[in-house]
Amino acid sequence: MIKVKEVIQELERIAPPAYQESYDNTGLIVGDKEAEVKGVLTCLDSTEAVIEEAIATGCNLVVAHHPIVFKGLKKITGRNYVERVIIKAIQNNIAIYAIHTNLDNVYNKGVNERIGQQLGLVDTQILAPKAILKGFIAYTFDERAAKLYDELKAAGVIALHQQGHRLEGQFEVGLQTRVVGLLRAAEAHSSITEIENKATNVGAGLYGDLPEAMEEEAFLAYLKERMKVDCIKHTALRGHKIKKVALCGGAGGFLLRQAIRRKADIFITADYKYHEFFDADQNIIIADIGHFESEQFTIDLLADIISDKFSNFAVRCTAVRTNPVHYWC
Ligand SMILES: [Zn+2]
Repeated sequence: MIKVKEVIQELERIAPPAYQESYDNTGLIVGDKEAEVKGVLTCLDSTEAVIEEAIATGCNLVVAHHPIVFKGLKKITGRNYVERVIIKAIQNNIAIYAIHTNLDNVYNKGVNERIGQQLGLVDTQILAPKAILKGFIAYTFDERAAKLYDELKAAGVIALHQQGHRLEGQFEVGLQTRVVGLLRAAEAHSSITEIENKATNVGAGLYGDLPEAMEEEAFLAYLKERMKVDCIKHTALRGHKIKKVALCGGAGGFLLRQAIRRKADIFITADYKYHEFFDADQNIIIADIGHFESEQFTIDLLADIISDKFSNFAVRCTAVRTNPVHYWC
């Protein structure tokens, strides 16, 4: 018997929640983490239709990329789709788990690595690596210091030093909850600081090379086909071949500067606004392929991560196309 929390553990081993952005709401949103998993349904958006599909297919755990709830809900009466999803999930004993910007921010088995694979990119790297080491200084009671030292060491803290009741050390940001928990349990006074240390496997966006340079128009046709898009919004072509490609699933406009700095010929992302397209300024091509389209392979990615580890229950990819955007071409 596999519990919901065991599936969560595996997902969070790949993408620790500490890597999520501050506005995010990754984690178990509805449901009981002790419940037995009967089946898993993966999706980008846990819409009402997806919850109905879960009920119909006997899946009691929905694993979504986008959290259905971002902000506090004061009343849950079913007056909008978010509230209706929550009510339906609870009434049918369905758990909803979201793995969002933490999955965007990991290189291995992350959202962007999968897009890079879909495009056949080689020598891929994170576009904007995140600072991931943190440091701390803590003061505790003399009699607790030695035990706290051992606990922190066992938790994976590095550069750990103890002098009397003072301890200092460094840890990967993914360990922060654990480290803070240990410091609190020892009633330590502590301060935590960022350390300038860029990870190569954690951060936003991705860039890499095509095995062979392609003409711009040929590349756009290839992009359309590989990413299954009906239509690409892009800035003016530059008359250069495409070799270096930068990308970010979802709304990645904030990475344009890094894409230009890496000398990418094209930046593939979504959710671009009219005025932001001007920022390409002949330095790069911006290609907006749509938010759903850019992240659609995350549905298979999530199913792969779970079925690679567990074989006791069925793992399905949703058959519902949850894209709220339709095109009339
Ligand atoms: Zn997204």
